Amino acid sequence: MARVTVIGGGLAGSEAAFQLAERGHEVTLVEMRPVRPTPAHRTDRLAEIVCTNSFKSTELTTAHGLLKWEMRALGCLLLAVAEEARIPGGAALTVDREEFSARMTAVVEGHPRIRVVRADGRPVSWGRSLLRHTIGYGLVGLSLGLGFLWIFVDKRRRGWPDLVSGTRVIEEASDD
Ligand SMILES: Cc1cc2nc3c(=O)[nH]c(=O)nc-3n(C[C@H](O)[C@H](O)[C@H](O)COP(=O)(O)OP(=O)(O)OC[C@H]3O[C@@H](n4cnc5c(N)ncnc54)[C@H](O)[C@@H]3O)c2cc1C
Repeated sequence: MARVTVIGGGLAGSEAAFQLAERGHEVTLVEMRPVRPTPAHRTDRLAEIVCTNSFKSTELTTAHGLLKWEMRALGCLLLAVAEEARIPGGAALTVDREEFSARMTAVVEGHPRIRVVRADGRPVSWGRSLLRHTIGYGLVGLSLGLGFLWIFVDKRRRGWPDLVSGTRVIEEASDD
């Protein structure tokens, strides 16, 4: 089975990660919040709904309703969780947004084949890279390797080169 990296734990990314993991793939889901916030999101939860709490109509006579029916038939996680977090909204699938994203976060983070990494996914800049390789590795050398062992102390498993340059090493999915 493949190892897959999904960037962004919004609605689409969370669903994609779950569907891939359910099919046996090892998934790394990279979400930048809370490391880097967005103007729209308010929490660090996965699948946060940023605007209306309505997923619109469930009636089969509407395009929205038909699409939901098809998504349910395909085993859509979002819709199953939306049903659990549902609040009265007539024919519309309306949810308690807090409960919805809390449940989604629990399911995705709790999946044995999904690893959620909180990082913004951007490549390291030249400046940071220079800092990392000169000052960072220099300090590790001067400390006779203690700077590398710091990963066992740091909560986010960062050694001194990472701490000096504000970077973080992430194991990426490879193509083989
Ligand atoms: C003000 C506003 C009103 C809206 N109103 C509606 C509406 O009425 N109806 C409707 O259907 N939709 C509405 N939307 C759109 C709504 O945001 C989308 O329907 C839905 O959130 C899209 O899901 P998504 O997964 O594509 O994106 P998002 O839910 O935004 O997910 C993207 C995720 O990727 C993360 N991310 C981005 N870049 C990186 C990176 N480089 N590294 C790591 N993580 C990253 C973000 O933090 C976020 O969690 C509205 C949006 C806004 C802003």
